[in-house]
Amino acid sequence: MLFKPNMYQKNIYDINYDKLKKQKIKVLIFDLDNTLALIDEEKCPQKSKELIKKLKKDFDIYIISNNEKERIKPYQEELKIKAVAKARKPFTKGLKQIKKEGYKKEEMVMIGDQLVTDILSGNLFSIKTIWTDPLGQKDLKITRFNRWLERRILAYYKRKNILKKGVYYEQ
Ligand SMILES: [Mg+2]
Repeated sequence: MLFKPNMYQKNIYDINYDKLKKQKIKVLIFDLDNTLALIDEEKCPQKSKELIKKLKKDFDIYIISNNEKERIKPYQEELKIKAVAKARKPFTKGLKQIKKEGYKKEEMVMIGDQLVTDILSGNLFSIKTIWTDPLGQKDLKITRFNRWLERRILAYYKRKNILKKGVYYEQ
């Protein structure tokens, strides 16, 4: 099941990171838009800033975004983390790049709000994936087709009892 995440939580603040630590996860890879921040937030929101600061004690943190370098730069600088821009998820080159920094696949987790980019890229790369609901209602224009596709996948998964929007789970 290419689009099925290992975990599904309402947002990044609800994820049980202690559990990930126990599962020997070393690197958390976040999507940016609608995962870490709203699409029109030019700077990192306080809540995400505090979370990342806390998580940095236990994990290495990366951002992988399909968005431009200019969009990601303020986050990268403020949070002092590494990032991959224009990653073209669901392609896995960004994840490959991070793995090369010295991680095993079982130590990596991809976290994001889109099944057809974030979750698919993680699943194609055979790492753990965590899906979240989008932080805001507003999406980037480029995301509209992805959401349409996502709704169709979700309708199928719901019918097959695989995954249901709003029914969160851990693994
Ligand atoms: Mg996103």
